[in-house]
Amino acid sequence: MAPTARASVLVADRFPNFSICGLPYWLGGEVRDWQQLAHRTVADLDESALRLRLETTATAIDVASKRITARRGDEPAEAIDYDRLIVATGADPVRPRLPGTDLPGVHVLHHMDQAFTLDHVIRERDARSVLIIGAGYIGLEMAEAFCHRGLEVTVVERLPEVLPTVDPGLGSLVRGELTVHGVAVHTDTTVRSIEAAAERLRVRADPDFAEAADVVLISVGVRPNSALLERAGAELGSRGAVAVDSGMATSLPDVWAAGDCVHTHHRLLAEPGYLPLGTTAHKRGRVAGDNAVGGRRTFAGSLGTQVVRVFDLAIARTGLRDDEARRGGFDPLTVACTAPDHKPYYPSAHDLHMRWTADRDTARLLGCQIVGHRDGQVAKRIDIPAAAIFAGVNVDQINDLDLSYTPPFGMPWDALQIGAQAWIAEHLVGHATPTVASRHEQPTG
Ligand SMILES: Cc1cc2nc3c(=O)[nH]c(=O)nc-3n(C[C@H](O)[C@H](O)[C@H](O)COP(=O)(O)OP(=O)(O)OC[C@H]3O[C@@H](n4cnc5c(N)ncnc54)[C@H](O)[C@@H]3O)c2cc1C
Repeated sequence: MAPTARASVLVADRFPNFSICGLPYWLGGEVRDWQQLAHRTVADLDESALRLRLETTATAIDVASKRITARRGDEPAEAIDYDRLIVATGADPVRPRLPGTDLPGVHVLHHMDQAFTLDHVIRERDARSVLIIGAGYIGLEMAEAFCHRGLEVTVVERLPEVLPTVDPGLGSLVRGELTVHGVAVHTDTTVRSIEAAAERLRVRADPDFAEAADVVLISVGVRPNSALLERAGAELGSRGAVAVDSGMATSLPDVWAAGDCVHTHHRLLAEPGYLPLGTTAHKRGRVAGDNAVGGRRTFAGSLGTQVVRVFDLAIARTGLRDDEARRGGFDPLTVACTAPDHKPYYPSAHDLHMRWTADRDTARLLGCQIVGHRDGQVAKRIDIPAAAIFAGVNVDQINDLDLSYTPPFGMPWDALQIGAQAWIAEHLVGHATPTVASRHEQPTG
């Protein structure tokens, strides 16, 4: 922080700097104590130069007089003056407008308090079963968490396959993993209502689905919490998120914004979208903070790089899928490839299932998706194409990368390079079909 700047942080709840990404692991019992989810404790933060004001909600911003109205519980509203303001109000979980979504026992999960309430209700009701609406990454992390707690889990998803952030062919592997672990999965199933049924909840969906559960978790996405800035006159961008420039400045003078409340510049599409992820939130917060005290930092853009664990699988993606690249004006070729995560003669080798997407004309890498075993270093492997796309590397250059090798962890040609070679081979053949499955020989070594 600039040595002369004094920073006050208003936090609506009691949980500054908590990792809400860790909530599924606390709710599932893998993380024992929710206090461990704090990136930094209140004591750590107090020791820094920050002045924390917990349970204090900003209700209005008067840009002309540089003044915030804030409220703490039932206390009278207070006016707080600022020189520079950063707004990072995050996102709120979507509660669809359907009958019954406000019934007791129907939950959403995004904030710490929502996690405590969900945990409490499961215990209080002595819940045996839970129905999750939405098979995105949070819904699936929670499916695993509920299984760890011994609950019967049903997942209902409107789309044809689970985890729609990856291609359906990869999503079907995730569905298989859920099923093996006892999760009942219903895709192509659109929830229409939730009703109270004795002590339980009955969920009805089209076509022809009705099932009762003790608890329902709605996990159908988030929307940016941009109302505070919108009321202050800030311009909004993609999906109602606050519009910011590359330095995270809003359209209002001396007001910056960062995190899930703002839209995201996509590095490949070169246009804003909405990608609410912790990784980008941290980077953009840093940019906003630097610039608010006179810096000149810019956000380099997001590729939507992400990874999720579902039982024994890890699923990751970066960049664009074929359909997204096509919509973005590229002429993509996507090639499917499977290769072992390490030398098959060494125990516990598993296949990595990949999709490589690159531009037909230039061979510029546009995207990569990987599904593999949780021990297959999927999370760190996806960072290689992520870095390559960031740097504008083409597919052939992936083969030139000097990647590490030892039999328990990889192969002389890493699985990723085998994927790149599969793309090149397919590109040379010049097939008209955009997606071709291929399996490649094991390299020696
Ligand atoms: C269950 C779950 C799992 C996730 N897993 C991952 C993951 O694995 N990887 C990943 O990259 N991302 C993940 N995310 C997303 C990630 O957590 C968010 O992108 C990130 O927390 C956004 O940070 P933020 O600071 O913008 O918002 P938040 O972390 O939501 O913080 C917003 C803060 O603003 C406060 N606030 C809101 N309005 C006001 C107001 N008017 N006045 C004062 N304070 C206010 C809130 O109390 C809150 O403290 C996950 C999210 C969830 C819910």
